[in-house]
Amino acid sequence: MPRPIEALIHTEALAHNLRRARAAAPDAKVWAVVKANAYGHGIEHAYAGLQGADGFALLDLAEAERVRALGWRGPILLLEGCFDARDLELCSRLNLWHTVHHDQQIDMLAAHKTHIGHHVFLKMNSGMNRLGFTPAAYYSAWLRLSGLTQVENISLMTHLSDADGARGIAHQVATFEEATRDLPGDRSLANSAATLRFAPNEPLVRGDWVRPGIMVYGSSPDFPEKSIVDWGLQPTMTLRSQLIGLQQLKAGDSVGYGSSFTAELPMRIGIVACGYADGYPRVVQPGTPVLVNGARSRIVGRVSMDMITVDLTPAPEAGLGSEITLWGQGPHGTTLPIDEIAQSAGTTGYELMCALAQRVPTRAV
Ligand SMILES: *Cc1c(COP(=O)(O)O)cnc(C)c1O
Repeated sequence: MPRPIEALIHTEALAHNLRRARAAAPDAKVWAVVKANAYGHGIEHAYAGLQGADGFALLDLAEAERVRALGWRGPILLLEGCFDARDLELCSRLNLWHTVHHDQQIDMLAAHKTHIGHHVFLKMNSGMNRLGFTPAAYYSAWLRLSGLTQVENISLMTHLSDADGARGIAHQVATFEEATRDLPGDRSLANSAATLRFAPNEPLVRGDWVRPGIMVYGSSPDFPEKSIVDWGLQPTMTLRSQLIGLQQLKAGDSVGYGSSFTAELPMRIGIVACGYADGYPRVVQPGTPVLVNGARSRIVGRVSMDMITVDLTPAPEAGLGSEITLWGQGPHGTTLPIDEIAQSAGTTGYELMCALAQRVPTRAV
């Protein structure tokens, strides 16, 4: 038997979360943001759950080819655009829409031979200072693009830096609005946090396309302020394993490297086939939650490369082979949001999902 660890990708939960995004922005179209590898889920595993989207937004041209190979005929948007002139040939061949965020991408388009008019998303840097034209340079970029025979359609896009936080988005929305007021074309501003928090009440934020990513993958964009339960989202990735060993501790016995945990009373612990080499964070705080046969318990001692030790007190029936949920959906309808483990590790659900190790067998259910 293979080592009992596995990751499950929940097709129905992906579809549910996507519907949740659509409900928050009912008159907008929805990009399923994939970036690369569907936030660690694997595009092949996630695809079935994401087919209700209006399009796929991704970064990697090879992945765009894979989405076409899976049978997707609708829009695909390259969020970072083309990296060199040859990429435009693939855009023409596979009908990929692409982001334009600097002048050289316009130069490449101007030199590109195609009889297929391209659909581009012109990106504005409205304050995040990552990709995009400044508001002052935006109109001339638009004018240049609109003069090219290679370009058939120009949509307008920006990205929000603080949709999940205290600073908020009003300054960026106002900047974008002012610099695009007289331009035609679809608008796109909102990531997950903006979709959930602002899109329902603010048509300007909703625009014509929303771009939810993390919410689709069952992590709350503003945890711990709001959890996935508060937002009506479901976990889409489960990391689960089994007990492969048991130990009975006496009071005063310690566990694992560095003896970081010492039992105050006699207790039973279980050894789980999962470690940091599987993508479980080594840096979690003591007491991080874990489900044992669906019962909430905690990690004791340090996370090692291939093993984790857990308190079996809440699950006295547990034995060799008992199911351990590290995050996601447990047995009997139980859940352990990935955000709780991420917080304990001082990071986000985004990073944990993306860090799921290659060696963990993954399948869609
Ligand atoms: C990552 C990304 C998104 C989605 O962000 P989430 O916080 O995951 O919803 C949307 N737009 C762009 C340009 C992105 O890079």
